[in-house]
Amino acid sequence: MRHVQIMGVPFLHIDQQGFVKLLAQRAEHKEKTFVITANPEIVMRANEDDTLNQYINEATYICADGIGVVKAASILGEDLPGRVTGYDTMVELLKIGQEKHYKIYLLGAQKETIEKTAANIQRDYPNVEVVGYHDGFFDWNNNTIAEEAAALQPDFIFVALGVPRQEKWISENMDKFSHGVFMGIGGSFDVIAG
Ligand code: UDP
Repeated sequence: MRHVQIMGVPFLHIDQQGFVKLLAQRAEHKEKTFVITANPEIVMRANEDDTLNQYINEATYICADGIGVVKAASILGEDLPGRVTGYDTMVELLKIGQEKHYKIYLLGAQKETIEKTAANIQRDYPNVEVVGYHDGFFDWNNNTIAEEAAALQPDFIFVALGVPRQEKWISENMDKFSHGVFMGIGGSFDVIAG
């Protein structure tokens, strides 16, 4: 697959629809996948922050979260087909999940937000199975969230802890899962909760 380098960050050359299809295939084949949707702030920070840079190196795919990255590519004489946001990707995957009966796990946001998010997804996509969820305010060094989530064998794990905590959580915990597509999605639960 083609990549476009922006300040050392390798963005996947793909449009929104193509990316959703790609992730659906990865889930179907049970290929473990780590997605970072990166905005210009992440690109800037990756150049100063070794840990964030490490997550970028570990990620399976990095896509252009926002028109800022697409414009930066154009200024550098490169082309990206368009923005590929975490929120849009998640919503499109839920639509596919309605047909394919995906199992999803949700981590992040305030307790009432994540409860509302899970309920809204279950209402709008009844064939998607929300196998579990947890809020994003927990003791980082003393919890069993990943072990409990892994036992539920989700196809998709959506993580909304803000950057770079969500990438850190995925990096530290994806080994515990047998399979799954892991994606940091920032403030998306706040939007879905309404
Ligand atoms: N969040 C969380 N735990 C934290 C910090 C943030 O669950 O320790 C959640 C927050 O409630 C929100 C989401 O992460 O739902 C995104 O947060 P923010 O907008 O601060 O992140 P960014 O815009 O940097 O991705």
